[in-house]
Amino acid sequence: MANYDYDLFVIGAGSGGVRAARTAAATGVKVAVAEDRYLGGTCVNVGCVPKKLYSYAAHFHDAFEDSSGFGWTIPQAPKFDWATLRDNKVEEIKRLNGIYNRLLEGAGVTLINGRAKVVDAHAVEVNGERITAEKILVAVGGWPWTPQFEGSEYTVNSNQVFDLDDFPKRFLVLGGGYIAVEFASIFNGLGADTHLVYRGALFLRGFDHEVREFTRDEMAKKGVNLHFEANIERIRKVEGGLEVTLTNGEQLEVDAVLAATGRRPHLEGLGLDSLGVELNTDGTLKVNERYESSVPSILALGDVTGGPELTPVALAEAMHLVQHHYGDKTPGPLDYQNIATAVFCHPNIGTVGLSEEEARERFGAVRIYSADFRPMKHTLSGSDERCLMKLVVDDASDRVVGAHMVGDEAGETIQGIAIAVRAQLTKTDFDATVGIHPTAAEEFVTMRSLTRR
Ligand code: NDP
Repeated sequence: MANYDYDLFVIGAGSGGVRAARTAAATGVKVAVAEDRYLGGTCVNVGCVPKKLYSYAAHFHDAFEDSSGFGWTIPQAPKFDWATLRDNKVEEIKRLNGIYNRLLEGAGVTLINGRAKVVDAHAVEVNGERITAEKILVAVGGWPWTPQFEGSEYTVNSNQVFDLDDFPKRFLVLGGGYIAVEFASIFNGLGADTHLVYRGALFLRGFDHEVREFTRDEMAKKGVNLHFEANIERIRKVEGGLEVTLTNGEQLEVDAVLAATGRRPHLEGLGLDSLGVELNTDGTLKVNERYESSVPSILALGDVTGGPELTPVALAEAMHLVQHHYGDKTPGPLDYQNIATAVFCHPNIGTVGLSEEEARERFGAVRIYSADFRPMKHTLSGSDERCLMKLVVDDASDRVVGAHMVGDEAGETIQGIAIAVRAQLTKTDFDATVGIHPTAAEEFVTMRSLTRR
């Protein structure tokens, strides 16, 4: 048997890479991880974590406004200081980087600071050194992608937006996906005059249509200027800002433009092309259910493989991969069907399972139960924010196949509902569950009247 330096060499210390490295090491195999940036990858450094912190910051805006109906007087208009938020965020992330470092060290994983290049099916090169491994795991994630147009060099991407030197008082986001709606809500909440420009008729393609419409209306009510059926034609630097011309002829002057136009696999310079590793049509790495590429000793997981680009998916894949390759029994395939997700726009979206449109296509006859109401808090706050909750039921089996919410802490609510949907519980089971009063979440077990068939 060949003698390798390591059993497993992981490239990329993001969510998936770190979890795979630690879990594999715990089974007794010899593991190394190479990382040339920050520990924790996109999620910890320029994704989920700082985004959620900024979203909390933005929510204070509503909280200050809502408080007067509850008897509070705020003696002076609250002022927001961008540098405080940004610098506190930097410190928190340093703390998390340290935790990741200790986790890897504690698990006995060798951490190598450098960008690895795959040189053959069992070898990588890092910092000029050749290292061999029985298996190589590519967990390099994705990288923001920006389309080219006149002045596209003036845009920032989601890696850069967290650390802007100055707070952009006028902010524009291009795109209509997760990142676009989240950052439009964040900067709007922090007090920027905010524009979102999306090329289609309605953002959040792929989400339940009613959820998309409801979110559009709520975001507009909060003051985000939505420009649909439009794209950026050009950006010019002008005195005091950026002049953005849209394809519909509109012209806007802003201080910063965020391109939130999707992410691409971060494969450049990794050497996989010379090994003939097969790709999917979108350029992501093709893997089988054991997370093996077309070169079986080269494994891959997470965003680079083109599945749902979500941290918990990469973590689940890492656990599966380790069970397949180093565990004592073969796990069943990972269930990608009912992955719950939240979009941290304001109000938040939480969703699991099928949209109404997908369910209709799959099952034909569906029952829809929905509630669109003013949350209790806003009876006194004076806010006109509303909440949407919706269950999609397969009529024949009575199974709840989709649950959707737009409202305060929707992700927190939907996480629990996701267990029920994954367990294939029926509407009758939901109805038989006694609610928690007074909560918004209790709507999910008290929606008795059919909205439509
Ligand atoms: P998405 O793929 O979700 O959205 C990209 C958006 O950019 C789409 O609206 C797309 O339009 C638009 N777009 C693409 N190309 C162009 C172009 N040439 N000109 C104009 N618009 C364009 O990517 P994001 O960058 O928002 O996020 C990447 C992924 O990261 C998400 O899909 C998600 O999986 C993950 N993520 C998850 C979060 C969470 O869990 N809360 C938060 C943030 C990110 P169209 O729809 O028409 O194709």
